[in-house]
Amino acid sequence: MSARSACRVAIVTGAGSGIGRAIAIQLAEDRFASVVLDLDAPAAQSVADEISARGLEGIAFGGVDVSDRAQVNAAVQRVRTEVGPPLVLVNNAGIPGFKEFLSITDEKWNRIMEVNLNGPFYFAQAVVPDMIEAGWGRIVNISSSSAQSGQPYMVHYVTSKAGLIGFTKALALELGPKGITVNTIPPGFVDTPMLRESERRGLLGRSVEENAKLTPVRRAGTAEDIAHACSFLVSEGAGYITGQVIGVNGGRNT
Ligand code: NAP
Repeated sequence: MSARSACRVAIVTGAGSGIGRAIAIQLAEDRFASVVLDLDAPAAQSVADEISARGLEGIAFGGVDVSDRAQVNAAVQRVRTEVGPPLVLVNNAGIPGFKEFLSITDEKWNRIMEVNLNGPFYFAQAVVPDMIEAGWGRIVNISSSSAQSGQPYMVHYVTSKAGLIGFTKALALELGPKGITVNTIPPGFVDTPMLRESERRGLLGRSVEENAKLTPVRRAGTAEDIAHACSFLVSEGAGYITGQVIGVNGGRNT
């Protein structure tokens, strides 16, 4: 990228796959310069190429681990100088965990907290100064419907996502006066590689298709369902919505 973008800059973490990929593409369609950030560098590049092929702005930032503060700060500094000040942040990167409660090791517990909770904390601290300077910003945290309902064998994951909901509510109150909104989307049962991996390991109880039949809207969610909600939350028109939990789950949680 030789010149800074004329568009507002949006960072989407975990954008090399699933929900993050769909959000990064949608925000590019919405005319943001979409920073496709992921641990998986080839995946980030492939999504950025897909966006560029549509004549839109997609910039790959691969090999960035959201749980490493130094990597987060370095990536945000590069975004600032090479693309422009980030005014939209979508904290989407996350890892699942399925273990009987008594089998959860300290290592697994800590890793889930580091990625699912520390990552959003590091990213928000890195970008909020740009948003304050602009007097405008949008943060969307991708939590999980499992934090609304509870979920057996996922105590560590559910705890991390419940923490992200609390993080959202508290940060929204603090940043509201600065023109920055902070909201969370807890997706429920979205057909992504993460969900199919859970199905493959027999962790869903029944197949994705059988689960879909029990969902009020009679289908599994798509990554695009989440991207559309995110697109609205980062729009100008959503400026009066902050600190909210916007469920996108086909009616599985109300
Ligand atoms: P996914 O397909 O596995 O995508 C997650 C992406 O995040 C992957 O590209 C992954 O890269 C990346 N990532 C993981 N750890 C990272 C790290 N430390 N630093 C940077 N990137 C990292 O998952 P998804 O289903 O789209 O889920 C996206 C978000 O939605 C997650 O926060 C998840 O908890 C949440 N969610 C999903 C569902 C659902 O039904 N799918 C439901 C509730 C909540 P690698 O491939 O290299 O690991």
